[in-house]
This record gives sequence, structure tokens and C-alpha cells, in this order.
Amino acid sequence: MRGVVMHGPGDVSVEERERPQIVVPSDAIIRVPASCICGSDLWPYRGIAEMSWPTPMGHEYVGIVEEVGDAVSTIKPGQFVIGSFFASDNTCEICQAGYQTHCVQRQPGAATGAQSEFVRIPLADGTLVATPGEPDPELIPSLLAASDVLGTGWFAAVAAQAGPGKTVAVVGDGAVGLLGVLAAQQLGAERIIAMSRHEPRQKLAREFGATDIVEERGDEGVARVKELTGGLGAHSVVEAVGTEESMRQAIRSTRPGGHVGYVGVFHDVALPVEELFFSGINLHGGPAPVRRFLPEFIDLIWNRRIDPGKVFDLELPLDQAAPGYDAMDTRQAIKVLLRS
Ligand SMILES: [Zn+2]
Repeated sequence: MRGVVMHGPGDVSVEERERPQIVVPSDAIIRVPASCICGSDLWPYRGIAEMSWPTPMGHEYVGIVEEVGDAVSTIKPGQFVIGSFFASDNTCEICQAGYQTHCVQRQPGAATGAQSEFVRIPLADGTLVATPGEPDPELIPSLLAASDVLGTGWFAAVAAQAGPGKTVAVVGDGAVGLLGVLAAQQLGAERIIAMSRHEPRQKLAREFGATDIVEERGDEGVARVKELTGGLGAHSVVEAVGTEESMRQAIRSTRPGGHVGYVGVFHDVALPVEELFFSGINLHGGPAPVRRFLPEFIDLIWNRRIDPGKVFDLELPLDQAAPGYDAMDTRQAIKVLLRS
């Protein structure tokens, strides 16, 4: 089968890889008609995250179940399924509390290599959720977005306690930040401030429900959010970047008693603990338990109430993954969908 392999920073190719097999009886093998490139794939691409080379890439997927192991009972061959980037049993106390990314049996990087024609999914019964039937092709981008970026943006908005009567500020205009705007809108936020200086992304943020755009960054961005909120700061702030600057911007944009939901993946970031202590804000975040939200997402997408697939502004055949990585790295594309 064909699959994307990274050989080092900036070096991505599509090559023949061994087709995955059932390894343990709780596994499923799925055929992947569409996968995508994640902002977090850019960390190793830019040489910021350490990795051993070569590495099969991808962790976002939808697909048709080809084969299941003997212990899989609810997921069946032929079903169209969505899963997330962590495998989870969905039965332990942590999963039942909605924190499947911290499942006692969790398997981080479970779907590694999803930018390919087939992928092995561990703990298939817990990890995968089937759609009500075969989706219309036009729904596939939105279902694929549910696998990671929608779930991550949604979790950030929930963690930030976005809801009726709240002003929500979103730091980051990548796919996760933009879908954080969509989530805040769906959760009933009164006002949504998107922080972005890129015109096409501002436009999409408005389509998703942003009421205000702040172009300034850093301390100037914070000042602008304060200006828009009577000097107090936002009730809820979504941090969807993962740099020290963005985290500080999120913390300083939040009013005392407010909440920051942070989902950007950090690399070598020092949190200003003293500043945090005196800020009186609540912090919650980490790797999003996307699995918690999948049944709700499938319902919203199936009934065409949300269209998170709009974040894909470039679609390429799997074989052209390399230009896709380049387009995301240079911010020419918000998010790239790969068809196999
Ligand atoms: Zn669990």
C-alpha cells in the first residue's frame, strides 16, 4: 500500500509500505479514503520536535472497516467509522468521565501512519464510532475534521467554559482555532473574538460565528481584547497554538475567574507560574478527548447542522503529500486533505 513517510525535517515522500495486519484480537484494519495533514505534523517537519527517522505520518482518519480481530464485537467489517488519535477502551472510569485520552489502556499515537491507504486501529470497539450508514461524499471532509481538529477545538471551548452569556476569545487561526470558534458558537457564546491577521482565515472565522476580529498579537492583542470587554478580559479563552507567546496572550486575555482551554501542543514552553498565581484564572487542557464528542459530531454533521470540513482549503491525491506539507508549512493552506 502507499503511505506518507517523513525521513527528516522538510523531507516527506509517499512510498510503498507494508499493509497493516491485525496484531492483537482487539484491533481493526480500516481502509482510509481520506486523511489529512495536521498542524502538529509540522513540528517534526520544521525540525522542532525530535523524532526517529523514517516515520510513517498521519493520525487523522475516517474509513471503511476491512477486518476486525476476534475480540472486536461492536465494530463490523463494511462500517464507515471515525476514530481519534488516541486509542481508548471507552469503558474505564477515566473514559466514562470523558477523558479518553487518559484512558487506563490508552495507546497514544494509535493511528500513526494514517496518511496511507490502510491503518490499524487498536481497541477498535472503544476507539471507533460508526456513522449511521455510508456518508455522502460531500460529508467526508467534515467527518474527517471530527477525527481531530473539530474535537480539539471543541474540547478547548468546553474547557474554557464557553457558553451563553460568555465572551470567548480564540488565540490561533489554524484549523483548531477556527473550529474553536465554531464550537463556541454551537455552545451558545454571546460574543466570539477571533485573533487573526490573515484575511481568508478571518473570513472563515466569521462564517463559523466570530463576532469580532483582533489582528494585534502579544501585549497589543491583549490590550485590544480588554478594550472589547470593558477592561476585564474575556470569560473564556481558547489557546490553539502552543507557543509561549500564545499561552501568555491567552492567560493575559482572560478575566479573573475566567477559564483558559489550552490545546496547542507545547514544545519547551515555560509557564509564568507567579503570573498565573496572581491572575486568578482557571486552566484546563491537554490532548483533547475527541472520542467523548464523536457521537454528537456525527449527529451534527449527518444532519448538516455544522460544516467543519470548510477548514480544508486544499485537497490533493495522497501521492502529492509533499506539496501538501509545503503548503501548510508556508501557511498557503489552512489544512490539506489527502485522498487515497
Ligand atoms: Zn478507558
